[in-house]
Amino acid sequence: MSLIENIIRSEVRALSAYHVPDSAGFVKLDAMENPYTLPEALRLELAQRLAAVALNRYPLPSYSALKAAISARLGVPAGFEVVLGNGSDELISMVSVACAKPGAKVLAPVPGFVMYAMSARFAGLEFVGVPLHPDFTLDKAAMLNAIAEHQPAIIYLAYPNNPTGTLFEVTEIEEILRAAGDTGVVIVDEAYQPFAQASLMPRLAEFSNLVVMRTVSKLGLAGIRLGYMSGNHALMQEFEKVRPPYNINVLTQAAAEFVLEHVAILDAQAAELRAQRGELSAALATLPGVQVFPSAANFVLIRVAQAEQVFAKLLEQKILVKNVGKMHSLLENCLRITVSTPQENALFLAAFIAAL
Ligand SMILES: *Cc1c(COP(=O)(O)O)cnc(C)c1O
Repeated sequence: MSLIENIIRSEVRALSAYHVPDSAGFVKLDAMENPYTLPEALRLELAQRLAAVALNRYPLPSYSALKAAISARLGVPAGFEVVLGNGSDELISMVSVACAKPGAKVLAPVPGFVMYAMSARFAGLEFVGVPLHPDFTLDKAAMLNAIAEHQPAIIYLAYPNNPTGTLFEVTEIEEILRAAGDTGVVIVDEAYQPFAQASLMPRLAEFSNLVVMRTVSKLGLAGIRLGYMSGNHALMQEFEKVRPPYNINVLTQAAAEFVLEHVAILDAQAAELRAQRGELSAALATLPGVQVFPSAANFVLIRVAQAEQVFAKLLEQKILVKNVGKMHSLLENCLRITVSTPQENALFLAAFIAAL
């Protein structure tokens, strides 16, 4: 046996590495990034703040100023603490590690965010995917049956869902929370909250098994890698124990504290992207043979005949969208397009119409 076979777990060997294409020179509409930057004056102010950061020191592991800013500016209810992650991807890993009892399971609707299944496998947990309806709404009966059958320790609901954009019904989420009770934590992943304008965060006090997870990535700070989650105190204390002590670096900490003082700018950018989402969806819906799914996120999922060829023709025009057709059978011939500036959306539309 080789070294690899001797030491690396078979589940890990069986995985293919998460592939992120090199997109230099492309109109990049594949990763739900905010296309807008901070105004010049603020960037210069930020540079001064960052210049004053003590790079020779470890971060203060309590992160109390950053946590206070997040709570105050991003709507965490009073009395609820936050746990910070190096992106919400790290929070997902922390939850998996903390809950990885032998035989424990993770359940989520599929198609959904791939990291739920990946992180479950990394931690040795079994992943149970429950198919959505073909229109990407939640199959509530199937979810409740699967919860009864599998008793999952962790249930993920992305609200709205990626890659479909669907905002599940709140009443269905409530039923799932009640069904999971004290056998499962329900992680409501609100990565796209700035675009959905709907949140379970104000309702944390009602459900002791509810955790609301968010990130600043889709809001316009994907590069600094910062996620946060909140929920009942006892649960947060346990998750906090598996957090790497210095997981948020001093530059991220300083940048986030600064930008949160100016969060109105990001909110205005999100509002502009919501308006653009409406325009892009409407324009796509007028095209023959294009099915547009309703989206509460900063992307639009569409179905076209021969998505594969359309995707390739877009690439030739240096336009990168996400071809999700192979991710799940329900997504056959689907493409996911990140909503961008009016200029980039127009470039995409022109190339897309030519490719059809
Ligand atoms: C993008 C995304 C995340 C990951 O966010 P990071 O904070 O950048 O790691 C989490 N959940 C969903 C549903 C996402 O689409």
